[in-house]
Amino acid sequence: MSGRVTVATCSLAGCFGCHMSFLDLDERLVPLLERVAFDRSPLTDVKHCSERVDIGLVEGGLCNEENVHTLLEFRKSCRILVAVGACAINGGVPALRNRIGLQECLDTAYCHGVNAVNREIPSDPELPLLLAEVRPITDLVAVDHFLPGCPPPADAFLELVTALLEGRQPVLPPSLRRFD
Ligand code: SF4
Repeated sequence: MSGRVTVATCSLAGCFGCHMSFLDLDERLVPLLERVAFDRSPLTDVKHCSERVDIGLVEGGLCNEENVHTLLEFRKSCRILVAVGACAINGGVPALRNRIGLQECLDTAYCHGVNAVNREIPSDPELPLLLAEVRPITDLVAVDHFLPGCPPPADAFLELVTALLEGRQPVLPPSLRRFD
């Protein structure tokens, strides 16, 4: 891959921690921006991808119909798709709700929990329909690379993007595969 490449990012069911970790590159983002142009991303506030994006980074798994729609559109636009972080790779923290079932989870959170205010489950039609289970993005689309971690450290992002720019496989030693 040569020249200035386009990179898009999106966040599904996650906590934005992976995006924050990417921003931890701090001043190292400056030379990266000479080789990379950001497209759709919470970092740019651009809501839809350009016709064709070189590298797409996905944070978060699938917990509702909006996530499904967003991921399908994102996959179509991105030549290389990367699952970033535990939530995208295996459902991560949001998938903890799979253990107790959706209805029990909603009842506990909105009706019986100590912080429940209105004691009723929100039903506004504008709210995206929840999936029965939180799922990893590999359940829906093909993924080209995985960047493990919760979140992956900034150095892992740098290695990933640098490797893809150089047309090689990313090298992620154990020190860059952390979950703390
Ligand atoms: Fe947040 Fe960890 Fe999920 Fe990234 S992998 S979105 S840091 S919970």
